[in-house]
Amino acid sequence: MSHARQLELAFDDAPRWDAPALESVLARDAGRPLRLVLTDNRSVLLSFKREAGCLLLRLHRMFLHAPDAVVLSLARNIRRRGRAAGSEVRRFMNANMHRVRKTPREMPPLLTGGRVHDLAAVYADINGRFFGNRLRVPITWGRGVGRARRGGLTFGSYDPVLALIRIHPVLDRPGVPRYFLESVVHHEMLHHHMGGVPDRAGRTVYHTRAFREAEARFPRHREALAWEKENLPELLRASHALDRERRAARAAARAAAR
Ligand SMILES: [Zn+2]
Repeated sequence: MSHARQLELAFDDAPRWDAPALESVLARDAGRPLRLVLTDNRSVLLSFKREAGCLLLRLHRMFLHAPDAVVLSLARNIRRRGRAAGSEVRRFMNANMHRVRKTPREMPPLLTGGRVHDLAAVYADINGRFFGNRLRVPITWGRGVGRARRGGLTFGSYDPVLALIRIHPVLDRPGVPRYFLESVVHHEMLHHHMGGVPDRAGRTVYHTRAFREAEARFPRHREALAWEKENLPELLRASHALDRERRAARAAARAAAR
C-alpha cells in the first residue's frame, strides 16, 4: 500500500556483491579458508560451522547488500572465532528484515454456516444492498482468537494479505440480532472495498473520514452501535466461555492422542 517505498527500493536495491566476490573478501579479511553458502532461511540468518579444515559460513542473501563496514566486521568476528554477530552486523540484519521472505499464509477453510446465523446469506444480502453485488471477498467465522480490543471485542477483521473477512464466532448466538451482524459484515466489506490510505508519516490509515461516512450509510448503524454498547458485557462473557470450550476441546484431543 505504500507505493513510494516500493519505488525507492526498486531504484536503489541492487546488491553490492555477488557470491564469489563476497566469499573472497570474507576469506581474505578473516585470514582463513572459508566457504560461503547463501540461504533464504527465515530464522537463522548467519551461522558458522567448521568443515574439514575449512569454515562453512551460511549467510542470508541479504548480506549481498551489506556495506563494506558490515562485511569487515563480520570477517573480524570470524577471525576471532566469535560465533555471535557483532553489533554492527546485528544492526544490519535488523535493518534488512524486509529482505527475509515471508511464507504466504494459506487461505483457511471457509466456514459460513452457523448455529444461528448463515454468514454466506448475510454477505450476499449486504453485497446486493450496498455494493451492487460487485464484491468478491471470502468470508468465514473466525476462531475467536483475535486480539481483544481494550475493554471490547474485535467482532470482525479484514485481512488485506488474504483478502479475507473473519467474523467472531461469538456473534453466532440467538441473542445477536441479524442487523448487528450485518453492520459488522458491512464494515469489513467496506475495508475490502476502500483499502487503506497512507498518512503523512507513511502509515496506512483505514478508518478515514470517507470510510466513516460510507459506514454510516448502513441504515441501522447507530442502532448497531447502541446495541453493542448495551450488550458488550454479555458478549465478553460468551467469548470467554468459547475460549474455555476451545481449550477444553484441545486438552481432550491431546489426551486422546496419548
Ligand atoms: Zn475497521
